Amino acid sequence: MAPAYDPNNIFARILRGELPCHKIYEDDVALAFMDIMPRAEGHCLVIPREPARGLLDISPAALSQLIQRVQTLAKAAQKAFDCDGITLHQFNESAGGQVVFHLHFHILPRWDGVALRPPGTMGDPEKLKAQAEKIRAALEA
Ligand code: 5GP
Repeated sequence: MAPAYDPNNIFARILRGELPCHKIYEDDVALAFMDIMPRAEGHCLVIPREPARGLLDISPAALSQLIQRVQTLAKAAQKAFDCDGITLHQFNESAGGQVVFHLHFHILPRWDGVALRPPGTMGDPEKLKAQAEKIRAALEA
């Protein structure tokens, strides 16, 4: 059985405004922001406000609202970067590849023939800021 939700995980702290992020969008259901170690241009994350470790413990009601935000953000990223495709990643528990234990969907803009970068390299903050603004503008267009 998975451990209990830890309210001091990094994304919970970002939700509470205790840690900064390059914010793209927020409402009463979700927060979207840039991944600090992007594996693709425009790599961003969508997380629920509901405290959930992953896909298995979020309430179905919150999940259905969250996935609509994921679709909205994916469309905005596609528009902002004019990419050829979008990859979604969503990992559950360490064995499933999860590192931060607050449910999140990765949105990864993709281009034909361009591989994902390996994980673990910090993005340039100015670039992340500009990319967040670009996705935000596409959301508002
Ligand atoms: P996962 O749990 O899906 O395997 O990976 C967590 C993701 O969160 C990674 O892509 C990592 O780059 C990102 N990440 C980790 N810490 C932070 C942070 O403090 N801020 C942001 N914006 N992203 C983070």
